[in-house]
Amino acid sequence: MDNSTGTCENCGHTFQYRLIHNGFGDSAYAYCNQCSFTVLLSGWSEAAKKVRFRIQQRMTADMEGLLKPCPCGGTFRAAADPRCPHCLQTLSAMKATDYIEKNASGTAKGWRWDQSWSGVYSIVLNENIVEDWWNNQALDGVSPQLQKRPR
Ligand SMILES: [Zn+2]
Ligand SMILES: [Zn+2]
Repeated sequence: MDNSTGTCENCGHTFQYRLIHNGFGDSAYAYCNQCSFTVLLSGWSEAAKKVRFRIQQRMTADMEGLLKPCPCGGTFRAAADPRCPHCLQTLSAMKATDYIEKNASGTAKGWRWDQSWSGVYSIVLNENIVEDWWNNQALDGVSPQLQKRPR
């Protein structure tokens, strides 16, 4: 989806955002626990050949240690919700319904925002995104239950 404008319910500032459908791209995602960054993890990357992880949803907590820190120094966490780029407070998925449904071209045809930050859609704020942000050292020592068996 193209960039649209949303409004933070905490500080009233606006930001650009786009939604990513993680089912189309076979990806997982997470948010930084301190800033407005999103991480996107492709199910087709080199790392995904080594690590078993669920796609089409927010990443699970056992993945946290396998990622590099956010560029801000924060951590991408399974339980972190997206944060406003201005005031850094978490955004409400419920309150986001106002701008997301207003801006989405599919809304007229019956599309509805699922009002959750852990569903198949992830949000990118002001293009603050990193992709396939794996910590290669951690990947080499990945725990057996996350390891993919060689075929
Ligand atoms: Zn704000
Ligand atoms: Zn961050």
